[in-house]
Amino acid sequence: MRALTLVADRKIELADIPLPPPPAAGEVQIRVKAVGLNHLDLWGFRGMAFAKRKLPLVVGAEAAGEIAAVGQGVGGFKVGDRVVMYGALTCGTCRACREGRDNLCENVRGILGFHVDGFARELINMEARLVIPVPDGVTLRDATCAPIAFSTVEHMLFDNAKLEAGETILVHAGGSGIGTVAIKMAKQIGCTVITTVGDDAKVEKAKALGADHVINYRTDRFETIVRKLTAKKGVDVVFEHTGKDTFPGSLLVLKRGGRLVTCGATSGATVDFNLMQLFQQQYKIFGSFGASMRNIRDSLAKMAGGLTPVIDTEVPLAEIERGLARLESRQVFGKIIVNF
Ligand SMILES: [Zn+2]
Repeated sequence: MRALTLVADRKIELADIPLPPPPAAGEVQIRVKAVGLNHLDLWGFRGMAFAKRKLPLVVGAEAAGEIAAVGQGVGGFKVGDRVVMYGALTCGTCRACREGRDNLCENVRGILGFHVDGFARELINMEARLVIPVPDGVTLRDATCAPIAFSTVEHMLFDNAKLEAGETILVHAGGSGIGTVAIKMAKQIGCTVITTVGDDAKVEKAKALGADHVINYRTDRFETIVRKLTAKKGVDVVFEHTGKDTFPGSLLVLKRGGRLVTCGATSGATVDFNLMQLFQQQYKIFGSFGASMRNIRDSLAKMAGGLTPVIDTEVPLAEIERGLARLESRQVFGKIIVNF
């Protein structure tokens, strides 16, 4: 069967790998239909220093598909059911898992597409407990964005930053996969959304998603505009994922007692900031990575309710390089999906 494999740093190949065995007891076999690209894939592509990886590795950290076979003792799934999969091999028994804090599992055996073989292959066997049904009315293409793009934002905004109706939020990189989701989720609960984009062509697109104010960070300093827009008070929440280039400014535009939540460092991972500013202003800074199974279910429910993802591009499997290049480009607005 076909699979996308990382064979060396920055080198992804369409490979032929053996079919999986029939699903074991407690497992289902899934026919993968679509894979969502993430910066996680680019990191694998670039070879992040901290990740222990054995090559070749099947890439793909978020996907949707259909049940192809059901193993012994599995209830609740039948052949043809549409599903998404949790992207980390959690233990299911530690305290964090039992409490539904899956992304804090103490015995996690790896993240698919990162430490262990991922979803970018035609068939995959998974423990049924890590598989989540897609509700009627949600397309598989949209559902592909639930396990990471949607659920990461859901976890950041609501579990960590505790964003509430009526608050003001600054969303960095509003045209990115997670930025577009953050704008839509914050507007849905009645927040005022300020966002940044790097290109004038994206200003109208971000406004069309509901953003109240859009700043082109290449022509204007976001710190100056945000302070002006909030009458120097600052915002309640900053949604960070850009890192080095924006982090110090993000703290500057935070209201006293405000919350900053971050899940990325695409412009660089090391920053300087003033600890006196941190404690005097009583800021709360949350590091966020991944999401819980509940976040994925909630994300799918939001999609069923009409909050759909913004899809930039769909590419066929054979054109994965075009998809990865698009993800790295400055023009991308929303998610990139690879169809199997
Ligand atoms: Zn666990």
